[in-house]
Amino acid sequence: MAVIEKQQSEKAMALEARYGAHNYHPLPVVLSKGEGVYVWDVDGRKYYDFLSAYSAVNQGHCHPKIIGALTRQAQELTLTSRAFYNDKLGEYEKFLCGYFAYDKVLPMNTGAEAVETAIKLARKWGYEKKGIQEGKAKVIVCLNNFHGRTITIISASNDPVATENFGPFTPGIVPIPYNDLEALEAAMGSDVAAFLVEPIQGEAGVNVPDADYMKRAHEICKAHNVLLMADEVQTGIARTGRLLASCGNCACPEKNCSGTPEVKPDVLILGKAISGGVLPVSAVLADDRIMEVIRPGNHGSTFGGNPLACAVATAALQVVAEERLAEKADELGRLFREKMQEIVETSDLVRLVRGKGLLNAIVIDDSEDSSTAWDICLALKENGLLAKPTHGNIIRFAPPLVMTREQLLDCVGIIRKTLREFQKA
Ligand SMILES: *Cc1c(COP(=O)(O)O)cnc(C)c1O
Repeated sequence: MAVIEKQQSEKAMALEARYGAHNYHPLPVVLSKGEGVYVWDVDGRKYYDFLSAYSAVNQGHCHPKIIGALTRQAQELTLTSRAFYNDKLGEYEKFLCGYFAYDKVLPMNTGAEAVETAIKLARKWGYEKKGIQEGKAKVIVCLNNFHGRTITIISASNDPVATENFGPFTPGIVPIPYNDLEALEAAMGSDVAAFLVEPIQGEAGVNVPDADYMKRAHEICKAHNVLLMADEVQTGIARTGRLLASCGNCACPEKNCSGTPEVKPDVLILGKAISGGVLPVSAVLADDRIMEVIRPGNHGSTFGGNPLACAVATAALQVVAEERLAEKADELGRLFREKMQEIVETSDLVRLVRGKGLLNAIVIDDSEDSSTAWDICLALKENGLLAKPTHGNIIRFAPPLVMTREQLLDCVGIIRKTLREFQKA
């Protein structure tokens, strides 16, 4: 039996290797089921999911309320395109605007599309409202960012793996160091339309900036009439212990936020967990003074704002509020870092733990091109926990936010045991 099952997972991996483009390097585990904080492989082995599909599955796998909304709506109407109205979009847009306290939303599908949309919006605003000379608009970005994979977005990347041989690139992008307000001030000018920034750099290895970074960056932007555009595709929707990592005066239901509100970005970019990882749903939110530059025909998407996505995203955001996931992420995150800190202090293998809420990472005490972090992830998998290195020697830990305290402590036990075994080996 075990041999047959082994063959099953090997077959699935071989099929991907043979027929799929090799644009990922997955951990060798083939999953076939998910529920809450758990996933199961084809051999029936159960794992804690400590990646949550890059924070798309904050509400846990196959949340019954979200799947209920999906299956109900799937039997009524899935797609009309925006050539016609549908009975779900307006209600959803109203709900979203209330939830995040913005005047308007532009619905898209993937995170990359939402970032592209934000850049287009910023440029158009720059020409029509700020009076930037035609063709001159600039967008400031940060080094080591991750905003997605389109040509324009990788034009803002300094990761050679993501950019090599994909040129020519989109002009008008100005990179500055992250968490550097002086560099931001120096980059400002009359032709700058926007500053695009992650409140915490997730892919770069969970880089947490100074506590007042977003607030002071916003002040600099305001002083120069530049839009602050927060890419909260990964940090948003309760992941970092508040509804948004750069959360401003949101009027979200149930006072969903914890922590002090810092700033309301001029343009808010959401994706991933806005659908609980069920469908590709993304959104760009802004107030009328910005969004009004978009007129019919300027921008669009066949699937953006489809009724199925509207029903799913509404349910997914209701779950975040009802189950107080921001508070949970905050509490569990503190507990997790406290426990991990104890491990750091007794381990030669782990240099440090950092993060906010349940978006955390450990830095392995080895060079960036070593395979140690990867090998630790393989060992964690053997012990029933799935995580993946972000960059070389950094492992991100981002479980679904529906985790219980007991489950989290169980996971800390697995990590402790694995690192100990690894140290001996
Ligand atoms: C994942 C991610 C994106 C891109 O989202 P896709 O849905 O993969 O296109 C953009 N920005 C950030 C911060 C992300 O983490």
